[in-house]
Amino acid sequence: MSEELREEEDDFSTDLVGFRRSMRLCRRRSHSTAHPSCPPRCPNSCCSALGSPYEEVVRYQRHPQDAHRLITLLGPSGVGVNELRRRLIEINPKIFQGAVPHTSRAPREYEESGREYHFISREIFDNMIQNKRFLEYGEYKGSLYGTSVESVREVLNSGKICVMDIEPNAVPAETRRGAHITTNYYVNRPFKDEDFQEIEESARKIESQFCQFFDHVIVNDELQDSCVQMLTAVRKAQDEPQWVPASWIR
Ligand code: 5GP
Repeated sequence: MSEELREEEDDFSTDLVGFRRSMRLCRRRSHSTAHPSCPPRCPNSCCSALGSPYEEVVRYQRHPQDAHRLITLLGPSGVGVNELRRRLIEINPKIFQGAVPHTSRAPREYEESGREYHFISREIFDNMIQNKRFLEYGEYKGSLYGTSVESVREVLNSGKICVMDIEPNAVPAETRRGAHITTNYYVNRPFKDEDFQEIEESARKIESQFCQFFDHVIVNDELQDSCVQMLTAVRKAQDEPQWVPASWIR
């Protein structure tokens, strides 16, 4: 965040409830690639949610059991998002842990319920969707897969930071909020031109849809470097007060 923006934010913030200049909304407007010359009240879909450059925010009061935040990684497929998640957990197993997802597919011989997945019937899965118990879910080769709120809570309750990566299409609209979201792009791999174009296109889409939720953007040139950046971003996110749109609390 630039110093200028930070000062402005301080001016507008009150203790618990206030109006803060939303860095994310401003950023979204200024770098909109779809509509680079959007007027302040652009009716296009990329900006219509903005309305005003100000939004009412409240300081999120964490409960003692919410010692940590959920870290969500978001990026085009094939750029190493899952690799980054795996590496973070592998290097710091006392700090990070993944949530055990649910699936409607049958377990494989070596799999154990509650370890690789929670194996449940499609009927129960559908029921959980209806009851909004998934943060994200999707279908793959005829089976349903998803991460439940309870699975994430279980990790957070154990005192660890839950880290998940998500497919942009797998996030239901009502849960597109509240997480610490990072996007990352690989630029240093020997991609074929057409693959690279696809990744760029996907990255652009993700950015136009989700950038107002990003806390940090990582350009994944080098996995080791990305891990370090990630750890710094996580530390910062844990220490900083968290401001969320008032509409999330009401
Ligand atoms: P497998 O059946 O081999 O364990 O997983 C196959 C695929 O299911 C993965 O490559 C991924 O696309 C999808 N998948 C696995 N876990 C999840 C999850 O938690 N959420 C979603 N949306 N898809 C998942």
